[in-house]
Amino acid sequence: MTITENLKKVQNAILSACQQADRSSDDVTLVAVSKRHPAEKIREAFEFGQSDFGENYLNEALEKQTLLEELNITWHFIGHIQSNKTRKIAENFAWAHTVDSLKIAQRLSNQRPAELPPLNLCLQINIDGEESKSGLDPDKSQLLELAQTAEKLPQIKLRGLMCIPAPKDNKDDELATFTKMKALQDYLNQHGCQLDTLSMGMSGDIDAAIMAGSTMVRVGTAIFGQRN
Ligand SMILES: *Cc1c(COP(=O)(O)O)cnc(C)c1O
Repeated sequence: MTITENLKKVQNAILSACQQADRSSDDVTLVAVSKRHPAEKIREAFEFGQSDFGENYLNEALEKQTLLEELNITWHFIGHIQSNKTRKIAENFAWAHTVDSLKIAQRLSNQRPAELPPLNLCLQINIDGEESKSGLDPDKSQLLELAQTAEKLPQIKLRGLMCIPAPKDNKDDELATFTKMKALQDYLNQHGCQLDTLSMGMSGDIDAAIMAGSTMVRVGTAIFGQRN
């Protein structure tokens, strides 16, 4: 299968999940996750109309951005954010999905160049409470406090919540986890936040994510094939 055939399949999967969920497909953005794949594959997907790409490793991403400079790509940072990486992320991405502390949000705001629009942020939630995983506790009042503070930072725009759930072996459990994310978003919005984004759903669980209200699915393998 070629990248364009794969993309078509993923687009169709998103369409049919939206139909099932009675949602408009305009409300779900596909972020093509290109980590560990070469710039030429990104170019091929871009030429087929894919505009949003997600990268996990900063140096690898910066190299590809240089090679693809002339393309009008919207770059999403979806890897773990260490403090010493915030400046380059603030300078070179449109979105950061994996913010898990106020300190990181503050650094990104301080380091976002003034001539760029605000950096779009999602707070990463450790929704299944896994010990090994980064992300914030799904504690409503702690999250509300953090979100309200982050919303006031000048050079970022807090857009929503993101998660990487623990693997599940059935659709009901997938749906239950994603529904918890939706409930958190609703809670924050009921208390004055203005979050329009839920970044959730990967190659294997797009349907459940869209059913629960995902607005951004992050798909790698189903588009680009296995990673090296
Ligand atoms: C790698 C990655 C993806 C894509 O995963 P696939 O299983 O290849 O679709 C999505 N989100 C994050 C945060 C990732 O690191």
